Amino acid sequence: MKELEQFCRELKKNFKPRDKGNHVKTWSEKDYLEGIGVVDAFVIILRTRGCSWAVKTGCSMCGYFNDSAWRKLSANDILSQFNLAMKNYNGEQIVKIFTSGSFLDEKEVPKIALEKILLNLANKTKKISIETRPEYVTEERLKELKKLVDKSDLEVSIGLESANDKILEYSINKGFKFEDYRKAAKIIIENDLKLKTYLLVKPPFLTEREAINDCIDSAKKIMDFPGAISLNPVCIQKNTLVEYLWKNKEYRLPWLWSITEILKTLGKNKKNNIRVKCDVVAGGRERGAHNCGKCDYFVLDKIRSFSLHQNIEELKDVYCECKEEWKEYLDLQELTHTEPRLFM
Ligand code: SF4
Ligand SMILES: [Zn+2]
Repeated sequence: MKELEQFCRELKKNFKPRDKGNHVKTWSEKDYLEGIGVVDAFVIILRTRGCSWAVKTGCSMCGYFNDSAWRKLSANDILSQFNLAMKNYNGEQIVKIFTSGSFLDEKEVPKIALEKILLNLANKTKKISIETRPEYVTEERLKELKKLVDKSDLEVSIGLESANDKILEYSINKGFKFEDYRKAAKIIIENDLKLKTYLLVKPPFLTEREAINDCIDSAKKIMDFPGAISLNPVCIQKNTLVEYLWKNKEYRLPWLWSITEILKTLGKNKKNNIRVKCDVVAGGRERGAHNCGKCDYFVLDKIRSFSLHQNIEELKDVYCECKEEWKEYLDLQELTHTEPRLFM
């Protein structure tokens, strides 16, 4: 949709990137490793030119470009960031190496840098996880990567967000269709690599109920592919369409109750041993998914624990008085098709 594309582009017009030199973010977190259980994972966020789609227009909720360099970085620049990051590496069995864009886009990560990084990690860790848009997934490229990582598992993650083409176009401005994801997912699976798919919880312009249903329908649609599903509840990032709506009180962040609802439904309907998890960025805070404020950290803990252990029982008896408010909110929104300000 041209208007949405245009709007997302306009929002970046006055944005000025800060030069952070070789700044690279790293941290350690818990994750699940097949055949072993819960282990430590090391996360590296490389600073690159930025996502090609964001350079052109960008997804309606994505503010990753705020931290991108907005200029092409050489293989040496990328490698020096990687070497800097590895000073914090403590032998974690999973390494997630992200770029806030596509690791397989050569404009972000030159081929030679990508090869050196994967070779280096393959000698150290059991599983390497990368993210990419589907257009960079080709049979030929994956075959090359597979040779590089040797015995380590390579997980390729795609931010599909929704399996509904209308939502992809009119709400998220994703720039690809479900069929593009499907083709890429097939290539990943057929080449014996691991697949992870991100789904967005509460894209803009949807009511909370529509968003819950869309997330569940999308997950069911992709469950034929073995792999993991990771729910990404919207958080408010700077210079995005979602921030614009939120500031105008036309968007409420997802309730944590909506997330537990989705997880419970998917937990009951799992196929192909799929793991369903959810990372709530800025959970319980002003710019993240939240409930009433009193129960947020308790509910977030349950979501975190379910994500690691996949035990649906943990989500069953979670309760706070605000759950009734959430139910009212769902009904009211369906009725009025506006954002009921009472519940912001
Ligand atoms: S969500 Fe992903 S594809 Fe969309 S603009 Fe951000 S980095 Fe690019
Ligand atoms: Zn509450």
